[in-house]
Amino acid sequence: MPQQDAIIIRGLNQNNLKNVSLDIPKGKIVVFTGVSGSGKSSIVFDTIAAESQRQMNETYTAFVRGRLPKYEKPRVERIDNLSASVIVDQSRLGGNARSTVGTISDMYAALRLLYARIGEPYVGTASYFSFNDPNGMCKTCSGIGKILDLDIERAIDPEKSWNESMLALPAFGVGNYYWKQYTGSGLFDLDKKYRDYTPEERNLLLFGSREPGGPREHKRVEGIKTQFQRLCLMKGSEEQSDHTLRKLNQFMEEKVCPDCGGRRLNPKTLSCKVAGYSIDELCAMEFTELVEVLKTIDDPRARTIVDALVASLTRMIDIGLPYLSMDRESSTLSGGEAQRLKLVRYMGSSLTGMTYIFDEPSTGMHPRDVHRMTRLLQSLRDRGNTVIVIEHNLDVMKRADWLIDVGPDGGTAGGEVVFTGSPREMAERGDTITAEYLRRSL
Ligand SMILES: [Zn+2]
Repeated sequence: MPQQDAIIIRGLNQNNLKNVSLDIPKGKIVVFTGVSGSGKSSIVFDTIAAESQRQMNETYTAFVRGRLPKYEKPRVERIDNLSASVIVDQSRLGGNARSTVGTISDMYAALRLLYARIGEPYVGTASYFSFNDPNGMCKTCSGIGKILDLDIERAIDPEKSWNESMLALPAFGVGNYYWKQYTGSGLFDLDKKYRDYTPEERNLLLFGSREPGGPREHKRVEGIKTQFQRLCLMKGSEEQSDHTLRKLNQFMEEKVCPDCGGRRLNPKTLSCKVAGYSIDELCAMEFTELVEVLKTIDDPRARTIVDALVASLTRMIDIGLPYLSMDRESSTLSGGEAQRLKLVRYMGSSLTGMTYIFDEPSTGMHPRDVHRMTRLLQSLRDRGNTVIVIEHNLDVMKRADWLIDVGPDGGTAGGEVVFTGSPREMAERGDTITAEYLRRSL
């Protein structure tokens, strides 16, 4: 092959590799095989990916470089014809508590644009459909969909009375400040255990006396539930010791926001409909259902947005994620799901001449989906990219343009390239474990 059509590696001694020299064809699907620890990752990640990143980083100013991850120069005599590389691995997707499949895949941004353009009634620009934007978010939960609520009953020992310090907070202990406020009100029987309280007495303790200026001899109390909540909101104020706050936090629990019911958006935003659905309803739909709803939209103002969304969703479905929805929190995705989502994201990219690197993309995949996934790899290749895959799956190996087998074994017994060639060539004349395995399956 002509030299510029291959990544040229000469004299590579990274980790367990034994002076490896290798040409990796570009613009092809190249699958690295071999037993665990044989040195596949040392070639693919520690050499190709690391050196590509390192050289890319050198193109930035010193200021930017200081803020980028550091890559060590691999122990190699010569490495030529590298292109910019993208690693598509199983690490978690970046993002925070607000990140969802929709936001991380950019599909939610397209959906917001759709609602701003053709939603009825018109409520505003795309920012009005973002739960990260003050225009769109539910004010109660700030767009999180959940609130922290106080489970006050957990702070009360039902077997104790006021005189036995029934509240598990120091400030409410016998003789302390808040204890005096409640016990001094004359509203409570100080020796009565909480479990013996009548519903009215429980209500009084939790929510306070309802009518200001009730019976003259009784002072008004705020109710410990209300009071605790207020104390929690006063975080950082000087009168609150850290100790009390830590205690209070034990009694907080995450609940669905009572105002938006977890929908994250405010009522005005939720009133806006497309095809009869509010934006959060579309986000809750499985992709297979969502794509059908989008196909019913034939407003010319929305055509390009709808086409782009349908294309993204179709890729998601094709790669075996038909059951996902846009509102799925990205932190709950498995490694395999995260990797496939990344692949779909890159499929939407118009960059060409890149090297995409995959680490066992078939992991956790249904056999039927492996075939679909390899089609996506082929389409990445057909757009002028090099696709490098570390993989054990035979279906992926068979569809490779080129195989590179590293071995013969793991650790010090590995570190050599034991075969390179097409899958057919490997099956015909390879004499490695992988070749035998491939031969039997063909
Ligand atoms: Zn809310």
